[in-house]
Order: sequence, then C-alpha cells, then structure tokens
Amino acid sequence: MNSHPRVCVIGSINMDLVTTTKKIPKKGETVLGERFETFPGGKGANQAVTSARLGADVSMIGAVGNDTFGKALLEHFKSEGISQKGISIVPDISTGVAAITVSENDNRIIVSPGANSKVNPKILDEAQDVIIASDIILLQLEIPMETVQYTVEFAYKHKIPVILNPAPFQFIPEDILEKVTYLTPNEVESVSLSEMPLTESIKEKMIITKGEHGVEFISKSGEPKTIPGFKVNVKDTTGAGDTFNGALATELARTGDLDQSILFANAAAALSVERFGAQGGIPDRKEIITFIE
Ligand code: ATP
Repeated sequence: MNSHPRVCVIGSINMDLVTTTKKIPKKGETVLGERFETFPGGKGANQAVTSARLGADVSMIGAVGNDTFGKALLEHFKSEGISQKGISIVPDISTGVAAITVSENDNRIIVSPGANSKVNPKILDEAQDVIIASDIILLQLEIPMETVQYTVEFAYKHKIPVILNPAPFQFIPEDILEKVTYLTPNEVESVSLSEMPLTESIKEKMIITKGEHGVEFISKSGEPKTIPGFKVNVKDTTGAGDTFNGALATELARTGDLDQSILFANAAAALSVERFGAQGGIPDRKEIITFIE
C-alpha cells in the first residue's frame, strides 16, 4: 500500500464561462441572459483536482496563457494543493476557455483550446523529473496527439503506468494503444475504438464507463466483469468521467488493485453526479468509503 500516491496529469486546463438563459438566441438575435459564472474546467484539470481531493500528491503538466484566466487557474491549482511546476505560461495566446450557454432544455458549447494547443513535447522535456517521480500518469485527448504519443513513449521507456482516457475521441496509433496500461473510454468512445483493428492485448486493457450502468472491464482473473452503477439521485452528470479517471488513478497508485480501484472510482463518480458542477461534484475519500460499505 502506497500512502502517498504520486499522480501526474498531463492535459487541458480551461476556464468554463457559463451563461444561463431562458432563451437561446436565434441567428442574428440578442437576448438578455439570467446569470453568468466562471468555473475551472478542462478534462486534465478536472482529473487532477479529483486526484488531489482524494489524497494524491498531484503534479499538473499543461499550459495557460499570460492572462487573467490563466492567473486565476494557477491560483486555483495552488488552493487545491496541486504542483504547478509543470504548467507553462505561453505568451500571445489565450488560456483555454469553454463558452457554455445553458437553458432549461438545451446547451451550446464552444471550446477554444488556446494555450492547450501549445502543450508540446518541449514542455514535457522541461518537466521530466516530475514525470519520472510519479507512480502513474493520467492522459486525455484535449492536448495535441503528438504530445500524447511522446508522453506514452516516455512513460513506457521509464516503466511508469499510463491511463489514457480517449476523450474527446480521435484516431490513436495502434503502437500507442499497445503501450498504455489502461484505456478508459465511455460507451460512445468504446464504439469508435472498436471500429479500429484492435489486438486482444488492447481489448484487455479497456475499462469502459457506461454512465448509470457502471463499468465493464476484464478483471485481474482474466474474466469479463461488469460493476453495476450505484443508484443515486442524479442532478448533473458533467464531469462524471473525469471524476472516475482521477479516482481510478489515485486508487491504482495507492493499492495496485485493479478491481478494487474500479469499484472505488465507480462510487466516486456516482456521488459526483448527485451534485452540480464538474469540480464542484467531487466527493472526498471518507464519503466514498462510507458509501461503498
Ligand atoms: P461525462 O462526459 O458526463 O463526464 P462520460 O461520458 O465520460 O461522462 P460516463 O460513462 O457517462 O462517462 O460516466 C462515468 C462514470 O460515472 C460511470 O461509469 C459511473 O461510475 C458514473 N456515473 C455516471 N452517470 C451515472 C448515473 N446516472 N448513476 C450512477 N453513476 C453514474
């Protein structure tokens, strides 16, 4: 048992700009909204915050712009106890933002990746020591594929396990899939993956999240296994997948026990959908343990 698991998250950092409105404007129309709020977001950052809240020693590697949102997000990481040594401040480009418009029965989202598109292998080279010192690496696909590939090759060489959350889905070269330790698609992403020619060894590392239906995976005994979803009072499923991945990485680094870690992550993600917000919904360790018992 590793009581100080070190998780390294390499991925996106965004500020979510959320406007709540009764009416979504039509083409050329202006409407008055009801409320405007900003929330820290981005898959990488959400997963990093989950791991930190669940007790891991977390290092975030990514990039923000030299602007107000970037500064606010660096402060946010600091307040969550996340090391930001690996976060670059890139000049002449904005911090990643997601402009989200929410009405009662609709939502529209435009993501501007900004500095996330500048997370290049050079940024990883500068953070090599941090990466090598970690017990597990957590990756998603909101940074350039070239960097994802570079990370996987580096981790493979240094024998550091990697969880690749293939979201949002895009084509991933087969040799990269062979070198990651676990793949965590949701149901839609797993269908896209299955359209690629996959070897048995790649299929065996898939941990498929299925929303309210829980998780499907090949257990350590080699048998296909489904852990059903917990019955919860659903309020907001935003970020459920991120909570799942952050919790899985932390628990795997802590215990090394796959089946137990998936059960833990399934409970963490179920609790998160009972509350609003991607990061606002993340439960703490004690809550998860009480919930499982
Ligand atoms: P999102 O994009 O909303 O962050 P996702 O599509 O990446 O989520 P899901 O498969 O929908 O991922 O959910 C991830 C995990 O969250 C599930 O495997 C489950 O553990 C938990 N979960 C999600 N929705 C529910 C629900 N309605 N009831 C119980 N658990 C849920």
